[in-house]
Amino acid sequence: MSSAGVGHPGRIVVVGSLNADLTIYCDRLPKPGETVHGNGFAVNPGGKSANQAVAAARLGGHVSLVGAVGEDANGNMLEASVAGAGVDVSHVRTSREPTGVAVIAVDARGENNIIISAGANGTLSPADVTRAADVLEGADVVSLCLEVSMETVLAAAQAGHDAGAQVLLNLSPYAEIPPALAELADVLLVNAHEAALFLGSDVPGAGAPAAEWDAVCSRFAGRGIRQVLVTLGSKGSVVLDAGAPAGARVTLVQPTEVRAVDTTGAGDAFTGAVAVRLAAGDALADAAAFASVAAAMATTRKGTQAAYPEAADVERRLS
Ligand code: ADP
Repeated sequence: MSSAGVGHPGRIVVVGSLNADLTIYCDRLPKPGETVHGNGFAVNPGGKSANQAVAAARLGGHVSLVGAVGEDANGNMLEASVAGAGVDVSHVRTSREPTGVAVIAVDARGENNIIISAGANGTLSPADVTRAADVLEGADVVSLCLEVSMETVLAAAQAGHDAGAQVLLNLSPYAEIPPALAELADVLLVNAHEAALFLGSDVPGAGAPAAEWDAVCSRFAGRGIRQVLVTLGSKGSVVLDAGAPAGARVTLVQPTEVRAVDTTGAGDAFTGAVAVRLAAGDALADAAAFASVAAAMATTRKGTQAAYPEAADVERRLS
């Protein structure tokens, strides 16, 4: 753990995925067996971990990314984007596998279909975590998602825990996690859909009273998770802290009103912002309030990494 404190940028290590987002825009999504005409195509840097790393770096964090790309044009594009945001990419290695891709179709209403091919991300292993010991040992926050193998996520969570870092686990794309990983996660970050899958039943809707969320807090704690952030899209987010005194275990974070034009990657912006504020010493509810603004601002511009705000933009909006 480094000697960060409130107001000082902490050290964040993101272990996980980099993907090239290949997006075709169309009037409506094709049915199985059907071909439709698209009306635009874009290749953008993406991957949940790369997005989170860029979001955190833009907001002033010292960020290292541990990942893998292919020796191809997409890999070069991704490294350039992430490094261009100030992220340390000394632990992004190349693989003989092609760079991971997400093939995305977006219709006129903004609905999408996404298929991810892990490619090089699938080669990221516990050995990569071991090789990144130099950065992991100084981490204040280790941020993880589920776009790389579970054994790699587990190894990274263990390394972060051993280093005294806070382990932030984004349960996305949703998968069952082993109890050992739940134990190692200091903060779980989920959207409402993922929360429901994890708990095996629906969670309260936006606008539900804190008492309903208090029951959800207990259910997460029963699964070994004491701190949870549940994001609710344009409706804001909820902070659950089973270790807080009774009556203070739930904080409802109001949404930040913006005119959203593209919500892709809002969850990653939120996660990166939480990481940066936790690393700087903020309490979880304060980190969530800051992240709410940062993620909302990210929805006001098209794209993911290119849309993420800088710390000064967020501070201006907060003041
Ligand atoms: P995910 O993309 O992972 O499903 P959400 O859609 O819940 O995540 O969005 C993450 C966070 O981004 C929300 O909790 C909220 O703070 C912010 N956000 C997302 N969409 C909007 C929006 N339309 N207006 C304001 N904030 C938004």
